[in-house]
Amino acid sequence: MVDQELRDKYEVVIGLEVHAQLKTKTKIFAPDPNIFGQEPNSLTSPITLGMPGVLPVLNKEAVNMGILAGLALNCEIPSRCKFDRKQYFYPDLPKGYQISQYDEPICINGYLNINGKRIGITRAHLEEDAGKLVHAGADGLAGSSYSLVDLNRAGTPLLEIVSEPDMRSSEEARNYMEELRNIVRYIGVCDGNLEEGSMRCDANISIMPKGSKEFGTRAEIKNVNSFSALQRAIEYEIDRQIEIVEDGGQVVQETRLWDDNSRETRSMRGKEDAHDYRYFPEPDLMPLEISRQWVEEIRAKMPELPSAKRERYQSLGLSEYDANVIVEQMGLALFFDKVLELGANPKTAVNFIMGEISAYLKENHIEITETKLTPENLTELINLIEKGTISNNIGKQILIEDMITNGEKASDIVEKKGLSQISDEGAIKEIVQKIIEANPAQVEAYKGGKTNLLGFFVGQVMKETQGRANPQTVNKFVKELLEG
Ligand code: ADP
Ligand code: MG
Repeated sequence: MVDQELRDKYEVVIGLEVHAQLKTKTKIFAPDPNIFGQEPNSLTSPITLGMPGVLPVLNKEAVNMGILAGLALNCEIPSRCKFDRKQYFYPDLPKGYQISQYDEPICINGYLNINGKRIGITRAHLEEDAGKLVHAGADGLAGSSYSLVDLNRAGTPLLEIVSEPDMRSSEEARNYMEELRNIVRYIGVCDGNLEEGSMRCDANISIMPKGSKEFGTRAEIKNVNSFSALQRAIEYEIDRQIEIVEDGGQVVQETRLWDDNSRETRSMRGKEDAHDYRYFPEPDLMPLEISRQWVEEIRAKMPELPSAKRERYQSLGLSEYDANVIVEQMGLALFFDKVLELGANPKTAVNFIMGEISAYLKENHIEITETKLTPENLTELINLIEKGTISNNIGKQILIEDMITNGEKASDIVEKKGLSQISDEGAIKEIVQKIIEANPAQVEAYKGGKTNLLGFFVGQVMKETQGRANPQTVNKFVKELLEG
């Protein structure tokens, strides 16, 4: 660990390359379904296998998603882009090259505002994913270990989003990555699951003396599959580089792998330069012309972005914190929006969602969509409370006991269990009178100055009525009868 004083001598420079798997129905250049968890090598048309003589056909849905993402990231969508071959040799890349975009990507010159600071997005381009190697361990035959190739993932569309080297701390990098994930999820192009690898991040990190204008040599860290791992990996890498430089050494440009168990990075390979890939235009695909009309059609379908949602929630009176918490959980935010649309009181809805509902979801490790609660039913419950038919407490009780778990309607439960609030003044007054008569010692103490016994009497009345008495009315009569 490098101490803070040493840290302060250096400025950290970070740029992220994020791969987002696009949720298209089929692969980017082949008709195979783009789905996860199938029998190995079952989604492998001759195109996916890279058989000689086959031709790729560009999937329009992937292009639409690329444009939508580009617009959400404030990018320009040039009127022409093209595809290129990037040569690699990997066992899970049968063609011996990846179709990607090199000098004419689909999106350029974007940015995201992260905590008030603008982080530039250099470009975002479409490409195909490779297959997967399954390392099977010792085989028992020759005693050697071996690997299996599963090409189901080969040809899955990816959008690679490349940032400018604009980030200056691990926290900033994490916040940028989190916002990127929110965006691709809300616009519906990627499920944003880091653990399952549907969103992957390479972090480029360098250090330079504070005040310097010239960036240091960067190392690229791969294999981070959570936000906290990203932050840890960057912190580790900053220290590693500072130690090298302080010892009079030089950071080498290389690709390093993060190991989240040992919490360190280790060298994987020297970093290739672009010329090593021998990029050249993909001869089997025409350059793609994207008309302004096409772009505008897609812009018109843009759903509300996370930043706008946060602002809207705050304008409804939510704190910045609450607005963030809801937006981070997309299922909950969409549920909340539906409840608002159905006309529920926003404050009451937030109290339920941030309170009882969130606690229940956390405790049971589930998402709101996995419960039986519907926006319609929650709205009805809120309306019953607003009208005074039931008390807030009864509302909370039936929400958890009957609505989330059994999917029942609030009005049915209230009727079945006789839970409607007693607002009849005469009836409440009678009960208060009864409680006062039953507790002479407390009455005396109250009259002797222990006025905080008011809560005791109110509590007794609520108990007697199983929480159904209107609390304001109870309060009023307890005071009146004790003091009158
Ligand atoms: P490659 O594909 O070879 O990794 P790219 O230029 O596509 O190269 O991506 C480089 C990434 O590294 C970008 O996100 C960029 O912001 C970042 N980067 C470039 N130079 C530095 C540097 N000196 N320090 C940190 N990050 C850098
Ligand atoms: Mg890279």
